Amino acid sequence: MSAQKTWRALELIEWTAGYFERAGIPTARLDAELLLAHALNQNRMWLYLNYEYVVSGQPLDAYRELVRRRHAREPVAYLTGRREFMSLSFEVNRGTLIPRPETETLVELALDWLRSEERECLKVAENETDQRVQLADIGCGSGAIGVALAYALQDNGAAVVSTDISEAALETARRNAESAGVGGSIEFRLGDGLSVFHAGERFDAVVSNPPYVRTADLERLPPESRLYEPREALDGGADGFAALRPLISGVGGFLKPGGFAAFEVGEGQAEQALALFETSKLFESAETALDMSGIERVVYGRRRG
Ligand code: GLN
Repeated sequence: MSAQKTWRALELIEWTAGYFERAGIPTARLDAELLLAHALNQNRMWLYLNYEYVVSGQPLDAYRELVRRRHAREPVAYLTGRREFMSLSFEVNRGTLIPRPETETLVELALDWLRSEERECLKVAENETDQRVQLADIGCGSGAIGVALAYALQDNGAAVVSTDISEAALETARRNAESAGVGGSIEFRLGDGLSVFHAGERFDAVVSNPPYVRTADLERLPPESRLYEPREALDGGADGFAALRPLISGVGGFLKPGGFAAFEVGEGQAEQALALFETSKLFESAETALDMSGIERVVYGRRRG
């Protein structure tokens, strides 16, 4: 990208798309557009209408830096600081996993259940002061799952406990809750797995997308994940179940009778996760749900009534 030349928006996009393609970046042109729009503080639609716009000065310098970092495989979401999930815009940074489209499967499944008649049948004890549906999102990262649930259930009233082992992730999640307008519905707790729950606490539903990648497989992840995303959000230990096993085995004790638990799992992990639900005895049945690529992505169960 020569410094002397006058660069128009379309020329920059085309030059960058070629540069990214040669580096093996799969979404080269899209990424170029997203980064240029970001450097110009505009959206992609504006770019399409302003292909002849001359980019110079500070925005051109900023764009060059973004291109350099993307070429080193830093994810676009970290460069723009945002990622969409369940039609909401989330702040993300290197302290949080980037929300994935397949995780929407988990949210939609939980929502279907929470809106179903089955859930209506869940008795709210008469002495319960909080009549809102009680939810928990364990290992919330950017907060995406809990925020999307609280947002979708605003009219019904939902109280969400979102947890993480990282204080920095919780800070990001708090901001995301505020900007989605559900800050008042979510309580954030710092801690590991089920240890954040109080004795006697019972939820209508507990969901989680825990780290589940086998340690040996981390090196095979795309460079975007491997080099930039937080290890503690990905590394599921030697067999990938270091976080999942205690969650599935113990979650039943924190559910109301008839309550619902759902966990995201990696490709090929569903069967073992189902077996954990069965071993726990507290669950009536456990099933799996497919993501949009047809992979068994979520394992879920309902506590005995
Ligand atoms: N879906 C992520 C990946 O394969 C893993 C997320 C997780 O471990 N929860 O990159």
